[in-house]
Amino acid sequence: MAPPGNAEPALSIHNLTVSYHNQPVLWDIELDIPAGVMAGIVGPNGAGKSTLIKSLLELVPSLSGEVRVHGKSYASQRKRVGYVPQRSSVDWDFPTTALDVVMMGLYGRLGWFRRPGRRERREAMEALAMVGMTDFAERQISQLSGGQQQRVFLARALVQQADVYFLDEPMAGVDATTERAIIEILRRLRDQGKTVIVVHHDLQTVSTYFDWLLLLNVRVIAAGNAQDVFKIDHLRKAYGGQIALLGDHDSLMFPASKVT
Ligand code: ADP
Repeated sequence: MAPPGNAEPALSIHNLTVSYHNQPVLWDIELDIPAGVMAGIVGPNGAGKSTLIKSLLELVPSLSGEVRVHGKSYASQRKRVGYVPQRSSVDWDFPTTALDVVMMGLYGRLGWFRRPGRRERREAMEALAMVGMTDFAERQISQLSGGQQQRVFLARALVQQADVYFLDEPMAGVDATTERAIIEILRRLRDQGKTVIVVHHDLQTVSTYFDWLLLLNVRVIAAGNAQDVFKIDHLRKAYGGQIALLGDHDSLMFPASKVT
């Protein structure tokens, strides 16, 4: 959590609207995410979760809106922002090794024209060690399992030493061990005061993983401390008929099936 008195949000979004082919997929988003939280972005398929992250990173154009990262424009804060895209959106056949992918995370610091040297290689190896991938450093990324690829991407984000991290479904399709490893690393980043923002699809783990939550479905359905947001009324509003819930305590959610 942000220390008391540190009122400047890590991320501030004002009046953000994004559309694809004249169809709005994000509508008038107003949002502040405090610094130093582990924030989850949750909502049904097609709710605009990935689009939200991509528009913040200026990877898709927005119709309107203002985005501030630690009070300044994204353009001026780019180096302070790390991004782990959805695994399925990446061309894993690209011929490159795990180590090279991690070193790419250093380019922002080096500039495109300075070649990484011994120091950068050591940093990249340290990051691979943190995600348990030392033995795979020289392996082609196409020859890694899904969970291993995700670990490599996480290592790439780690070497960036960003202050705000965006991860798009980092736990999708990885085994339980990898999921635990990823969440441990993200918690460590949060405990160092960084802000970690994660698109997540498994409602069963939401309340254990996140201390701050955005429930999204084109609009902001609810946002704030996880225990205030993760309530039956909000979930029904976000998911509509797609959700089946057992139990009638509105703060204890047990989805009957995974909402994907
Ligand atoms: P989520 O991440 O919540 O599943 P997305 O942000 O991927 O949602 O998508 C939101 C909506 O925008 C969906 O209806 C999706 O089909 C549409 N969409 C996403 N990307 C594009 C694109 N590049 N072109 C056109 N429509 C898109």
